[in-house]
Amino acid sequence: AGLVVSFGEMLIDFVPTVSGVSLAEAPGFLKAPGGAPANVAIAVARLGGRCAFLGKLGDDEFGRMLAAILRDNGVDDSGVTFDAGARTALAFVTLRADGEREFMFYRNPSADMLLTEAELNLDLIRKAKVFHYGSISLITEPCRSAHLKAMEVAKEAGALLSYDPNLRLPLWPSAAEAREQILSIWDAADIIKVSDVELEFLTDTDSVEDEVAMRLWRPSLKLLLVTLGEKGCKYYTKDFHGSVESFAVKQVDTTGAGDAFVGALLGKFVEDQSALQDEKKLRELLRFSNACGAITTTKKGAIPSLPNVSEAMRLMERP
Ligand code: ATP
Repeated sequence: AGLVVSFGEMLIDFVPTVSGVSLAEAPGFLKAPGGAPANVAIAVARLGGRCAFLGKLGDDEFGRMLAAILRDNGVDDSGVTFDAGARTALAFVTLRADGEREFMFYRNPSADMLLTEAELNLDLIRKAKVFHYGSISLITEPCRSAHLKAMEVAKEAGALLSYDPNLRLPLWPSAAEAREQILSIWDAADIIKVSDVELEFLTDTDSVEDEVAMRLWRPSLKLLLVTLGEKGCKYYTKDFHGSVESFAVKQVDTTGAGDAFVGALLGKFVEDQSALQDEKKLRELLRFSNACGAITTTKKGAIPSLPNVSEAMRLMERP
């Protein structure tokens, strides 16, 4: 089977033990391992695919704990390096009663930001059939150069490049900088997935209509996806476009839904990319990806709720 390599940050989200409070009001916090690229790697593995995660952790209890989580979930961690001087990144996150997400990041700098070009496991990258990344690793040097180099090596080796920007505005110096940098690597990708919120941000509009989405289209792209939460997703290729509905579930916590959606898709593309030219096949595949995203919203945390194939099948076959 082909290998998916997912590049970027892995960190610990600290989430309040009770819901609907501000960070200041929270009586206590639970550790929730995360970082979108790491979630994607685990999503691929849980669905039976081969996956490696490439990134840097602190040489501390939390870093070793995260590497063990990768291994326990069947993800190859041979591309993980440890920084002796910097800590594993932490983020305190809460969904307040008013529905707003509140973040507080501990990255000053954290180990993930300190990954260098020289530390990249190039052999692993060259083995990738699909290479996936986000934009958080673009924010500061030296990780930014490592990210760009990794993309270049993967592309040269013939991998399919998959990009989910995963906007975290508070991490960028300004909104303008975020938009500019996120778009600066747009043309290298084969597949890009954005959420409805990211589409609006990147196009500076308040619409997710097709004309707006098409502003993010490039001739270099094979597939552009826009996820719409409970409404499913939209897809655009050079020959066809449309939308696929999701499944009705009882939503508890949406964290990781987008990562499960991407992981499901990449796990299939690593075996067979014919869906990129075949709308019927693509729609089937997106139905599966939607099911995986939907299941991930039904439990707290990202990693504990990522589905296996039989859970996804059960939701898809439900009358
Ligand atoms: P994340 O919370 O991980 O950042 P995202 O914003 O990238 O997620 P979403 O659009 O929330 O991505 O969700 C990804 C996919 O998961 C959707 O396209 C949809 O298929 C599925 N999904 C998410 N929320 C729901 C829901 N409440 N009901 C059904 N399906 C859902």
